[in-house]
Amino acid sequence: MTAPSRPVPVPDETSAPYWEAAAGHVLTVARCSRCGSFSIPPDVVCQHCHSTDPDFAFEPVSGRGAIRSWTVVRQSFLPGFTDDVPFVLVDVELDEQADLRMIGRLVDGPAAALRLGDRVVVTFEDLAPGVAVPAFGLEPS
Ligand SMILES: [Zn+2]
Repeated sequence: MTAPSRPVPVPDETSAPYWEAAAGHVLTVARCSRCGSFSIPPDVVCQHCHSTDPDFAFEPVSGRGAIRSWTVVRQSFLPGFTDDVPFVLVDVELDEQADLRMIGRLVDGPAAALRLGDRVVVTFEDLAPGVAVPAFGLEPS
């Protein structure tokens, strides 16, 4: 028996440009066309200017940021992650905007020594042909 493989993201109409960019290892974030603020995830209303017609567009970002918190996942509740535990999820504040937070897996492994404010940069895990998910790696200090 082989373990079930990790589930792959299924893009919808809204997220398709995001996953398309990710497949090319480019991180994008939805940006409000009214006020220029980034939002993760984009909602029907812009959380910054409260426009009900934000017309979000995904724009490339640096993928650099600082760790604001993290957690070690020791038990897999979803099939497909059994072989991956334990792993670390980091909560990253991206450089582009104050409080622009994104959760991702840390590729440095569960034993990485972490401190609040540690610098990370986005990297991508290729799950299948044409499918990649963003993760983070510690920047060499
Ligand atoms: Zn806005």
